[in-house]
Amino acid sequence: MPADSSPGLAGETHARSAGRRPRSAATQQPRTSVSGAVEVRRSARRSRTVSAYREGDRTIVLIPARMSEAEEQRWVGVMLDKLAAQESKRVIGDSGLAERAERLSGQYLGGRARPASVRWVTNQNTRWGSCTPAEGSIRLSHRLQGMPEYVVDYVLLHELAHLLVPGHGPRFWQLLEAYPRTERARGYLEGVVAADRLPHLPAAREE
Ligand SMILES: [Zn+2]
Repeated sequence: MPADSSPGLAGETHARSAGRRPRSAATQQPRTSVSGAVEVRRSARRSRTVSAYREGDRTIVLIPARMSEAEEQRWVGVMLDKLAAQESKRVIGDSGLAERAERLSGQYLGGRARPASVRWVTNQNTRWGSCTPAEGSIRLSHRLQGMPEYVVDYVLLHELAHLLVPGHGPRFWQLLEAYPRTERARGYLEGVVAADRLPHLPAAREE
């Protein structure tokens, strides 16, 4: 799945610090060591390349089996920085969100959903998105930043659809039928929630 130093899956935007991981006494290979959110996997098949990717909330770093402990530590730092840099580049601003909303509305909702404002918020930790139809405002949780585009698009489209249909009845889901990755995006978000052990399902309730 992972291309070298090019993550297929992005987790949180902010990189976790590698921290001090306890030294493992295990000598058999492949060896796996885990510390907090960073997991280092040694592979005998790997001779030179180091790669890293996010898996839910964790970061997996793949290194050659023969790499020394010092080198391992150095490379974990390098790869965490690299991932964080790639992910921060993918984060779009509020104006980018508004453009995306317009494109999604045009593509999937016949342009009928026209939000007055679309913005990121940092105070939404149990919901991925919310909207206030009376104001035409849509808010997306900053926790979506760094997730794959199709996931952000799904949440945005979901909120756009709520501007047209409140609640989650058949008419609502009909609006989302045209978006081909609804199920996949919902599965992704459910996986993130499961990993985080959050008490709420994503986008389960809106105002
Ligand atoms: Zn909803």
